Amino acid sequence: MNPLGRRIAALIGAQGPISIAEFMTLALHDRECGYYATHDPIGSGGDFITAPEISQMFGELLGLWLAQVWHDQGKPRQPLLVELGPGRGTLMADALRALTLMPQFRESLDVVLVETSSALRRAQAETLRDVGVPLRWAESFDSSLADRPLFLVANEFFDALPIRQYVKTERGWCERMVSIDQSGALTFVLAPTALPAALVPASRDGAPVGGVYETASAGEALCEDIGHVITRHGGGAIIVDYGYGLPGFGETLQAVASHRFADVLTNPGASDLSAHVDFHALRAAAVRGGATAFGPVEQGEFLVSLGIVERAERLSRNHLQNLTLELDRLTKADEMGTLFKALAIVPKSAPTPPGF
Ligand code: SAH
Repeated sequence: MNPLGRRIAALIGAQGPISIAEFMTLALHDRECGYYATHDPIGSGGDFITAPEISQMFGELLGLWLAQVWHDQGKPRQPLLVELGPGRGTLMADALRALTLMPQFRESLDVVLVETSSALRRAQAETLRDVGVPLRWAESFDSSLADRPLFLVANEFFDALPIRQYVKTERGWCERMVSIDQSGALTFVLAPTALPAALVPASRDGAPVGGVYETASAGEALCEDIGHVITRHGGGAIIVDYGYGLPGFGETLQAVASHRFADVLTNPGASDLSAHVDFHALRAAAVRGGATAFGPVEQGEFLVSLGIVERAERLSRNHLQNLTLELDRLTKADEMGTLFKALAIVPKSAPTPPGF
């Protein structure tokens, strides 16, 4: 076991089993040994590749989506453009380049990048050094971002937020926890007491013994906040991630290192941990915040309706490069086209946003 694994084991030895959410937070965000503190995760040399790293068209279309939503709401003044988890800053760079087509929006923007990793903050600063709009960084989405019209984009951010798992047993739904076995290694166990029936969502009735469901309270709380700010000050959010649209059963927590699946508990901090996003729950949270949510729609369908095919043809003509491969990776069902989905959050009074 690596040093972070030993530290987590010692913590469990002292205080008892921890939730999967606590384990994820330590494995991903520990300041010294956590995954994001020690890795540059994205790209061919990293552990996974994301849509903006596949094609410039992704960030361009999302940037123009935000500008259209701004336009449809009567061009509110002092818009704040927030990206959650900007990775290398590629999506934001592509979005801001496309937004030169909408100078009135672009020139009034303040950009905030919400990022915990200092290595990725440096990468973002480097990618965005010449964009010519004011940039700042924040550790989390907090009330300082809540006083103006909010235009927010998040790609593959919500899948990195901590989840909890519950397993159906003969005695009811029991939380799956992380503990240590007799040899001191990390292992999954079930909490001895079942959840009180009143806390189990009705949609979970009827699951067979062994069924699993996941909850992501941090992600839901964040969506509720976003819904609240957008309701109060106007704006729009576009959330893209891999996940499911209806409440589902099944465990989706996964570890990935060097583009391969790895074991979740072995060597915490050495692999990226993520889980499928429950869009149904995020949508409900945004509505609790007072906003209207659209979608989720599948990424392929969403990008096609925003004009990705035409954009690819245009780029291919201008640069004599063939963008069919990039287009296929983003939109085809056997690539990212259906597993990935887009969810929009806008005020109740706003028209239906593009692509929904
Ligand atoms: N959006 C980028 C990167 C996705 S990877 C892209 O599409 O390429 C996830 C990103 O979220 C990374 O930048 C990671 O450092 C950041 N991140 C993960 N958890 C976070 C948290 N709790 N708070 C802020 N940033 C977080």
